[in-house]
Amino acid sequence: MPRGWFPKIKQVRAFVVRGGGADYHDQGEGHWIDDHIATPMARYPEYRRSRQSFGINVLGTLVVEIEADDGTMGFAVTTGGEPAAFIVEKHLARFLEGRDPRETEKIWDQMYFSTQYYGRKGLVVNAISGVDLALWDLLGRLRQEPVHHLLGGAVRDELQFYATGARPDLAKQMGFIGGKMPLHHGPAEGIEGLHKNIAELAEMRSRVGADFWLMLDCWMALDLDYATRLAHAAHEHGLKWIEEALSPDDYWGYAALKQAAPKGMLVTTGEHEATRWGFRMLLDMECCDIIQPDVGWCGGVTELIKIANYADAKGALMIPHGSSVYSYHFVVTRHNSPFAEFLMMAPKADQVVPMFHPQLIGEPVPENGRLKASALDKPGFGVELNRDVPLARPYTH
Ligand SMILES: [Mg+2]
Repeated sequence: MPRGWFPKIKQVRAFVVRGGGADYHDQGEGHWIDDHIATPMARYPEYRRSRQSFGINVLGTLVVEIEADDGTMGFAVTTGGEPAAFIVEKHLARFLEGRDPRETEKIWDQMYFSTQYYGRKGLVVNAISGVDLALWDLLGRLRQEPVHHLLGGAVRDELQFYATGARPDLAKQMGFIGGKMPLHHGPAEGIEGLHKNIAELAEMRSRVGADFWLMLDCWMALDLDYATRLAHAAHEHGLKWIEEALSPDDYWGYAALKQAAPKGMLVTTGEHEATRWGFRMLLDMECCDIIQPDVGWCGGVTELIKIANYADAKGALMIPHGSSVYSYHFVVTRHNSPFAEFLMMAPKADQVVPMFHPQLIGEPVPENGRLKASALDKPGFGVELNRDVPLARPYTH
């Protein structure tokens, strides 16, 4: 390209896809991810057995595609489905089209503050995240650089992973450094449910031995009293961390839980938190030891830079939630992100399969619990959109 010239953004398009992928809860019957998992809705018996019963998979995947005027395309996938597609097409696209794709800060600022009156968190920030990730993908492709080069470069030669799924014992055999299980019983199932939770942990501890990391993901299901009792009972079985025990709005509860948790057990949360301001609350109020932003939900890479820097200055670890290549390119550039999460999306959690299957082509997966940084050395986020999966574009502008 001529000196000084850089392509402009020509068009932003938003699509919806069903079946797995970024909306990883959208799975068939019998998958471990929907097997009587403790949730805040489990207080209602009719919604206790299945998260799909209360609509966890109602949104589907959002695909954002950004085309530059030289024909180069960037894209990203996240959740948010049709309502996020509306926001992208009808509201956010105006802040990108005709603009220089290198202006990531200004574009993010305009997307966030133009939607603040109905946004701030949740679906709107999911949509902003999808656009931001597609923009970084485009920028990497235009510069023929992987996104991690644009973020300052790798500080390690490889990524190390823990596995999230129902079978930490199998994850250990597959080379992962730890296993995080879903909690199955919430406060509504009483002391009997608490005993079952501890029995499941004890059984898994007996299978994996003393040193393998075991964690429990509580998916916002508990109250402070239950979480405190669970943490102390689980401490006897070497639980490494208790994740997202309380509602993400209950900053006070998290601060109290961190105080009440046994010494040596980590309190983690943040996958349903968003933006630098949300994470500032978690860090300033000393709610947790590890923050777990999802780069596809918290505001994208542009916002994760700010979140991660604040955590670093506060001495907190930042271990992103899931999100595949979109977090790998970030984690590899940060010392306060020494390992990453891998979601076991095989229905029985008995083999490693690509996390966002079938929507991405070329999605790298860990081998023996590790991934070489060089596996990320492709332009952008280094993956392609699988065009064999039907894409619907519900809105245009
Ligand atoms: Mg979690």
